[in-house]
Amino acid sequence: VVGQTGLGKSTLINTLFAAHLIDTKGRFAADEVVRQTTEIHPVSHVIVENGVKLRLNIVDTPGYGDQVNNENCWDPIIKYIKDQHSAYLRKELTAMRDRYIVDTRIHCCLFFINPTGHGLRPIDVTVMKKLSDVVNVVPVIAKSDSLTMDERDLFKERIRAEMLYNNIRAYPFDNDDYEEEERELNERIRTLIPFAVVGSEKSVVIDGKQVRGRKNRYGVVNVENESHCEFVHLRNFLTRTHLQDLIETTAQIHYEAFRSKQLLALKESSSKQQQQQQAAAAQH
Ligand code: GDP
Ligand code: MG
Repeated sequence: VVGQTGLGKSTLINTLFAAHLIDTKGRFAADEVVRQTTEIHPVSHVIVENGVKLRLNIVDTPGYGDQVNNENCWDPIIKYIKDQHSAYLRKELTAMRDRYIVDTRIHCCLFFINPTGHGLRPIDVTVMKKLSDVVNVVPVIAKSDSLTMDERDLFKERIRAEMLYNNIRAYPFDNDDYEEEERELNERIRTLIPFAVVGSEKSVVIDGKQVRGRKNRYGVVNVENESHCEFVHLRNFLTRTHLQDLIETTAQIHYEAFRSKQLLALKESSSKQQQQQQAAAAQH
């Protein structure tokens, strides 16, 4: 989960998994000293989908782009993603063929966009581009309750146009192997992206029922109501319709690109070493 500080990243994670993984002040327990998310750290959580238990690791990142000098502020995030690839490759090279390898690779990066209604900041474009080279990037409009429905639609169109213009390759990708059904599903997702989301850690009562929501000056936003925001779409996308494809795309596209680069570098350095050894032997 990546984005500026204060855009509701921690809140949305907690809304998604309906448990207080990380409170919005960055604490794990109520009596802990208040801190901001200052380091990248994964939190493990088990959810049950259609009777199947899933272990999800969620990685909250400290806000980037908040400093006066934002040069290379994305480096720690990119490094974290590459480190997971690197760890997986090491295990793959040493593990026995049929042994299960613990997968800590990042399968999806939720990218939080400030709901300004205007467009992406130059730094967002830069970071999104860097990220999309190494991970499946799924942009979301943060705190979308601050925009009207018309403003959201316009904002979405602008962001999609900016992404296209800047050559940012967003997930889902097209693939020749996909069936008609998968193509249609992806087409629908592309019309939804960026998901306009609202998060909340509080329950409110609507028609006598407890729901996750936010009270504002216009009334109550029900996070789970599809006519209020696209939180439910995002949740279905992440935990049902695209769960498997996010994992496969990571393995087949992002990890594969990393892996072949690393193996090539390894081969080059070992052939260089061989040449040096041969040259040294010839001198003797
Ligand atoms: P983070 O720094 O990105 O992790 O942001 P937090 O999750 O800590 O949230 C920052 C503040 O924004 C908190 O006061 C939240 O209650 C509030 N907030 C979070 N999500 C939303 C939202 O969808 N809509 C509105 N209006 N406020 C939100
Ligand atoms: Mg946070």
